[in-house]
Amino acid sequence: MADDSIRGGQHLLPAFGPTETFDGDAGTPEVVVHVAYALTREQLLTALSIGFTEVDPARDAENLTVEEVRVEVEGWLSAHGIIELGRYQAQGQLTAYPPEAQPTMDALAEAIDRAYPARPPADRCPAAHPDDPTPCDGPPVVTVLDAQTAGADGCEHHGARLLASLEGGRVYPLPDAPEGAAIRVFQAAASIRPFPWLTDAPRTESSQRSHDENRRGGEDR
Ligand SMILES: [Zn+2]
Repeated sequence: MADDSIRGGQHLLPAFGPTETFDGDAGTPEVVVHVAYALTREQLLTALSIGFTEVDPARDAENLTVEEVRVEVEGWLSAHGIIELGRYQAQGQLTAYPPEAQPTMDALAEAIDRAYPARPPADRCPAAHPDDPTPCDGPPVVTVLDAQTAGADGCEHHGARLLASLEGGRVYPLPDAPEGAAIRVFQAAASIRPFPWLTDAPRTESSQRSHDENRRGGEDR
């Protein structure tokens, strides 16, 4: 089971934690990152003994609870990661990046957004585009896939808007979907322009217009 054990080298090791989530007072956290350390018993003991003497030297070691021990060990490992990170952040603020490095920094920031997407607003389905301000019209009932089979579940409203924005997208009903949900999404998508929330975008190219508009354009010619 992935939850109970983690592959450490060749062997399946017993795994513990995270017992607590640590943050470094560096602003509002947006995601939780789990890092797994494979440790020897000696490393565990070292981490615990540092934490134990630093935090409360008067504490009786015999009465430590399992949870206290784990929080102490994890806390020591996390604290050092976060302190080190803070050091680099402070350094970065002092040393301005040269202008030619800016495209790389922008690309790295985009890579972070891809790897650690922000939580979608709680009351909207995964198919809702972050820039699309419209609310859901119900629970997720369809899965919309792009041509590469990356997909998102969505309500009918956002499913249709996502499908209309994809080149070669497909739509399938979720197992509990009401009758005809995928067909309704497919039909609705035909008259929706790609990225319909971009209200001042040009609509001159066929890739910027709805399937219906393109079909009508084709018949006029
Ligand atoms: Zn939705």
